[in-house]
Amino acid sequence: MPKVAPNESSDSSEKQDKIQPLGGMSPASRMSFSAGKMLRKASIQDSTGLTLSLSAEPAAVRRSSLGLSTSMIYPQSPAERHESVKVTRAMEEKYGFNFLTNEFSINPNLEKEYQAYCTEINLNPACNSSILIWLLWIITTLIEVPKLISGNADERLTALISLLFALPVLVATPFLVMICRNKKYQHRMQVIFCILVHCCAFSLLGSGLICASQNTLQIVQRDIGGIESLATNMSAISSTFCGYVVAQYPNTYTANITGQVNVNSQNGLLVFDNVVLNTSQIFTLNNNTSFWSYPDRIGSLQNTLWYYVAGVILPIAQLNANLVRPIIILLIAPLFKLDTYYFIATAITTNLCYFIFLSLTFPVTSDQYLIRNKFYLVFVLAGLSAIMALRVRQTDRFMRLNFLHIRSAEEKVRIAQEQKEQIQNENRSLKRMLEAQTAHGKDALDLDSPMAKVITDLTKIQQSPNLDAGLQQHLNEIVTLLTKQGHNLFAPDIHEQLKMKREVDLDADTKGWATTVLASKSYQRNNNRRSSTQSDEESIQPVMMLRPEVRLPDEATLSKVNDMMKNDGWNIDIHAVAELSNGKPISYVTYVIFERHNMFSFCSVEKHTMVNFFWFIDAGYLPNPYHNNCHAADVVNYVEFMISTVDNGFFLTLLNIQEVFAAIVAAAIHDFRHPGKSNNFLVKSQHTLAVKYSDSSVLERMHLAESFFLASERDFNIFSGMKPKQYTEVRKAIIEMVLTTDLSVHLQLVGSLKAALLSQNRNDVMDSPMMLMKIIIKCADVGHSSKCTQLHARWSELIIEEFFLQGDEEKALGMEISPFMNRAFENSAKNQLGFFEFIILPFFDVVAEIVFTPGFKPILDQVHINYNLWKKAEAMQLKSIKDILDQVFNVDEHATSSMNRISFLPKQSSPSSPTASSVS
Ligand SMILES: [Zn+2]
Repeated sequence: MPKVAPNESSDSSEKQDKIQPLGGMSPASRMSFSAGKMLRKASIQDSTGLTLSLSAEPAAVRRSSLGLSTSMIYPQSPAERHESVKVTRAMEEKYGFNFLTNEFSINPNLEKEYQAYCTEINLNPACNSSILIWLLWIITTLIEVPKLISGNADERLTALISLLFALPVLVATPFLVMICRNKKYQHRMQVIFCILVHCCAFSLLGSGLICASQNTLQIVQRDIGGIESLATNMSAISSTFCGYVVAQYPNTYTANITGQVNVNSQNGLLVFDNVVLNTSQIFTLNNNTSFWSYPDRIGSLQNTLWYYVAGVILPIAQLNANLVRPIIILLIAPLFKLDTYYFIATAITTNLCYFIFLSLTFPVTSDQYLIRNKFYLVFVLAGLSAIMALRVRQTDRFMRLNFLHIRSAEEKVRIAQEQKEQIQNENRSLKRMLEAQTAHGKDALDLDSPMAKVITDLTKIQQSPNLDAGLQQHLNEIVTLLTKQGHNLFAPDIHEQLKMKREVDLDADTKGWATTVLASKSYQRNNNRRSSTQSDEESIQPVMMLRPEVRLPDEATLSKVNDMMKNDGWNIDIHAVAELSNGKPISYVTYVIFERHNMFSFCSVEKHTMVNFFWFIDAGYLPNPYHNNCHAADVVNYVEFMISTVDNGFFLTLLNIQEVFAAIVAAAIHDFRHPGKSNNFLVKSQHTLAVKYSDSSVLERMHLAESFFLASERDFNIFSGMKPKQYTEVRKAIIEMVLTTDLSVHLQLVGSLKAALLSQNRNDVMDSPMMLMKIIIKCADVGHSSKCTQLHARWSELIIEEFFLQGDEEKALGMEISPFMNRAFENSAKNQLGFFEFIILPFFDVVAEIVFTPGFKPILDQVHINYNLWKKAEAMQLKSIKDILDQVFNVDEHATSSMNRISFLPKQSSPSSPTASSVS
């Protein structure tokens, strides 16, 4: 069983449960608590700041909390009295104490609990008291035993009666104590001890009122006999004795003793011979006499005296003296730990018994003093009983308050314990989940490249505190080398080496052969940072003619498009631009950008050539749902936004104008003539394009080839103003950027960014214009995932539709339908979640960390908002994109009607414009 030593809660706001410190525990003392079986040693700080020390200690210790505060039972100061009353009232209201017996009338279960608690703490003291009283009883009874062999028959009878009265206590006590010790009957403890107290009351009162009277009577009887014989034999003494008596009351005797007595009182001396000597003289005592207040009496002197002593004097004396016996009962009753109810029952029985004896044995009298005496006895006992009952009631009440206090403390501990267990359980389940997830992660796709893992491990070793300085330096170099080299780890760094070597070391032929054949160099920036400004004489361009089908962009529309680009940034509604520009969004967006960055001049681009080129690029895009000129124009805008707006145009300080030009052109052509089918489809179906480009980045190589074919025509050659070396560089940059848009190389880019992040070598990225350009075009190409929810929803719907169209064709061709492209088994939420988890999130997260600072945050935040919407859609088990748009993205038909939602899916009309191939 639990034991509790309460500690005062520091939370004073809990009025109802706030009790004075009971048991004299100091507020600072810790609560010692044992919650039985369930608790082991532990320390808990509960929410109220109650410090509980949990330990498995013996149950008996709980009693220590029951030392009651005397100030609560007998409040000494007005403040204590006030507090006592307040606390008691609060408890009474909350638990509904019965007015008389204190029972918890509102909650019977609580009462049962309290009774069990009382039994637990009171059983031992009550049993010990019982045994002690029993022993005392045995001793007092033993005094009577010799009288059993007395010569006097009356004495023997009295002793026998006395023993009979003692018998219930002597026999019942051990028996009842044994029953109480049995767990089965412990809950009846109050009844059992009440019976025991009743036995005591019966025995004590009975033997007192009957046997004690008998004993005294016997003594008086004996003594009166002695006095009589004395008076008979020693007349002188009798005369003197009687003479003295009559002399004291001359008039009374003369007046009231009538007839049969010869009285001579004339001389003031009484001749008493006749009276004394003649014992058979008859007296008549009645109520006519002023002193006789008892029933009429006729008899000899001896009889009359006997009657007076035995019938009047002795009962009064006995009853007065024996008042102490019921009082003893009332005093020993609390030793049996009776509660208020049983104490009151005991008190009533005791009072009743005493009253019955009083009524039976008290002499009938009209004497006012004796009548008052009789009532004094009744009132004294009843009054004392009432006081004792109140005392027991009050003690009981404070025991109950103490119990409630302990209970509430236990409850707090229980709650704290439960919370602790709950937290432990949660921790356990979280740990399991984590382990499961880790295990799952091991089974699932690992997006980290082997190089990233190597660099991670090396970085960990680097951070080891015991590492030797030389080794650390060595490791630094290794990590730098690995990070810089990226995926060219197994190629010699010929270019780097040649930079170091002077002309004398290697002849020009060897050097040229080494750089062109052994190690072809990818994009390399011209040494001049802003080298674009060619000398004016070199940049003079002949004015070219517009192709007959091409129109110059009109100024009004250009201005509108310019405003939209400025105001909406990466969230531009490109379909609206397409409508404004009469289906030529690339032409208009690029024109605005060329003017904005003055590329016509800086990059020596002839205006009509530029318009011709992008007009045909616009026209060359096929009307796919997603991969159309709107997507390309959107990517162009996104690239320009990233370069000139994010982080206040930070990229403009890193890239030169040719690089910006290359990025814009790459964006515009990056999906040129996209057939709306994936690389995988082309390879699988042995499409002519796959054959032509040897299955490697088929689409991307096709976009590049078709575009450069177009540009090779004189009217479309936007590179014609460039020096050959510049053109080579720009071409390389465009090629690398477009090839980067192939999703199959996406993870390589993410991996190299992660490697840079791991080696904490941000400059490796920031110093590489090609890397920056790749990052920009990748962000832009998958940029719809970072657009505002409405636009993202629209683009998602379009790409899903394009997937389904491919699926339809695969089905028609009898091919295996690609994942997520089967219209019959649509699961768009899962499809998009996979896209986010494998492609978008790893990429945008690492870009946000390594490239941009605060300016990229709104874009990243939007990515996560959109991702969470797809998660929500999956949680709602929505599969169809239509349902997802309606229920999760809340795309309202009416709200988007102004944007002409239906027109997002372009009309399946064949392009009227010439293809790049036809042009070339
Ligand atoms: Zn694209």
